[in-house]
Amino acid sequence: MSNLRFSQVLLKISGEALAGGRPFGIDNQTITNFCQEIAQAAEAGARISLVIGGGNIFRGVSDQAAGMDRASADYMGMLATVLNALAVQEGLEKQGLSTRVMSAITMREVCEPYIRRRALRHLEKGRVVICAAGTGNPYFTTDTAAALRAMELKTEAILKGTKVDGVYDKDPLKHPDAVKFETLTYMDVLEKRLRVMDTTAISLAMDNKLPIVVFNMFTPGNLKRVLVGEPVGTVVKG
Ligand code: UDP
Repeated sequence: MSNLRFSQVLLKISGEALAGGRPFGIDNQTITNFCQEIAQAAEAGARISLVIGGGNIFRGVSDQAAGMDRASADYMGMLATVLNALAVQEGLEKQGLSTRVMSAITMREVCEPYIRRRALRHLEKGRVVICAAGTGNPYFTTDTAAALRAMELKTEAILKGTKVDGVYDKDPLKHPDAVKFETLTYMDVLEKRLRVMDTTAISLAMDNKLPIVVFNMFTPGNLKRVLVGEPVGTVVKG
């Protein structure tokens, strides 16, 4: 483990990323590719926890939820993250990894409840812990869940796997002249309203001095590059 820059990490993957190129749903090939990346990182000796989003299936604040009570819509969003977590668990097990899905909303027939000490024990045993159902509370996001779990599980960084190479001054998919930042402070992100993670997640990371690395999860080998400390993506720190 000692040759890794980060040996204990929390990887946040958005639901949208799991859809691959599709407008919604789960793309099996994308799951396989991501799971290969995670297997490579685990083989290098990293302890990995995952937080998976649900935006590819349902978001509490979206047109899909128009007219619904916000809390009910958010619970639907949290359940969507459980579907994604189970899909990722299948993918990781195909790569030979030992895994546990731990949900913030109890559903014993499907997965374990999230219990911090138990999660730490799974990580000690070399299992990949997949945290599902966000924080378990409406009005939050899986970005905030990622920051929360990253601190609870004593990780050294939050890794945010996206479809672009890092954080840019404007959307690089729409503006070819967009400029990528190598590093940013938490205050830069908050003041410039850069779309890294939501403000609650950034504030939590800032208060606890937890670095965030935003990188392209679709580039093969990138996750391991981040772990060994290669200058990949954008690093947000104090
Ligand atoms: N959600 C929630 N509380 C949480 C995490 C998620 O209510 O702690 C709901 C919320 O409705 C959100 C949806 O779950 O829109 C899916 O999560 P998110 O939008 O963070 O997924 P991502 O954008 O990462 O795919």
